[in-house]
Amino acid sequence: MNHQIAIAGSDVAFACHGGESVLDAALRSGIELPYSCRKGVCGNCAGRVEQGEVAGIGNAAIRNETCAPDQVLFCLCAPQGDLTIAPSSWHRIDPGARKRFTAKVFRNQLAAPDVSVLQLRLPAGQRAKFQAGQYLQLAVGDGSTRSYSMANPPHESDGLTLHIRHVPGGAFSARVPSLQPGETIELELPFGAVALDPDSTRPIVFVAGGTGFAPVKSILDDMAKKKVQRPITLIWGARKAEGIYLRAAVAKWQKQWPDFRFIAALSEETEAAPEAGAFAGRVDEALVEHCPRLEDAELYGCGSPGMVSAVRNVAEKRCGLDPKRFHADVFVDGPASGPPPSGTA
Ligand SMILES: Cc1cc2nc3c(=O)[nH]c(=O)nc-3n(C[C@H](O)[C@H](O)[C@H](O)COP(=O)(O)OP(=O)(O)OC[C@H]3O[C@@H](n4cnc5c(N)ncnc54)[C@H](O)[C@@H]3O)c2cc1C
Repeated sequence: MNHQIAIAGSDVAFACHGGESVLDAALRSGIELPYSCRKGVCGNCAGRVEQGEVAGIGNAAIRNETCAPDQVLFCLCAPQGDLTIAPSSWHRIDPGARKRFTAKVFRNQLAAPDVSVLQLRLPAGQRAKFQAGQYLQLAVGDGSTRSYSMANPPHESDGLTLHIRHVPGGAFSARVPSLQPGETIELELPFGAVALDPDSTRPIVFVAGGTGFAPVKSILDDMAKKKVQRPITLIWGARKAEGIYLRAAVAKWQKQWPDFRFIAALSEETEAAPEAGAFAGRVDEALVEHCPRLEDAELYGCGSPGMVSAVRNVAEKRCGLDPKRFHADVFVDGPASGPPPSGTA
């Protein structure tokens, strides 16, 4: 059964089909609400229901620890009647902007012992349109899909670069080291609504765990291209120094922005200073040590659910970050969720 969903304080309304989440109905109708994982983990889609009732799809919990008491997760709830909602932000998008491509492996390099940098090329003449920080979904072959963040900036639009950690036994990632140039991959993009304010001049802190560096690289390369000037700190965590796999990119940013701060947080190192610019400990500990005052800052945390949650916790409780300026990009594992693929290239 269809229900109408209105956005408070606007003349925008859209229909929600039976079984559809509030978020999917909005996206299908060309209204973008903030979102990332679509699995109820990142909390980016949290917003208020001003009128009407919602219920969790398949009995899913409609709140998590990132929600304020009056908020629900729009990715997991369905209307029980007509609704008026107050998302944290929204804007109109072209609902047909998402495209499917058959991409070819161009280059596949081992960047760290368990990380491949996979470069894909699109068919001649085709271009991928996305924003820095967004992700794609690729077909695994068993009917399911997996999500991967673009690591290249949007202006390099004839290809896609992915940083993929090999998960032992993983249906897709464990196969990645053996992918050969010329092999094809079916994919669709873009997904995710990047909440970073392009016009902000606030200090920005990126905290990445492992391949959580991928979207950060896309965002920083995009900022470099646009000659954005704002104080930038990057804290990148790995177990050991070999997990910090693209130092050349970091060196380039340090050259472009002389006061760019880089801290490699190495959780399995016990020495106080295992190498120049490194911190012996986890990324959340490095954040408290190197960025104790975040009242004016914006923070982008990307990696595993546990890492992002630990960073959010210390950033807000110990460093004074305004929760509205915490942007989460959470690599929740398993098949991607969401509606079936939309338009084609
Ligand atoms: C928005 C988004 C963006 C993402 N971007 C990236 C990216 O840029 N790079 C990247 O490497 N990954 C990324 N991921 C994770 C990725 O989508 C896959 O979940 C991951 O690669 C595992 O897929 P798989 O098919 O190899 O393993 P699966 O077959 O899905 O899982 C196999 C087994 O391993 C477990 N498992 C899966 N992942 C992990 C893990 N990380 N740690 C421990 N156990 C695990 C599963 O629970 C399962 O038991 C992203 C996820 C999301 C939601």
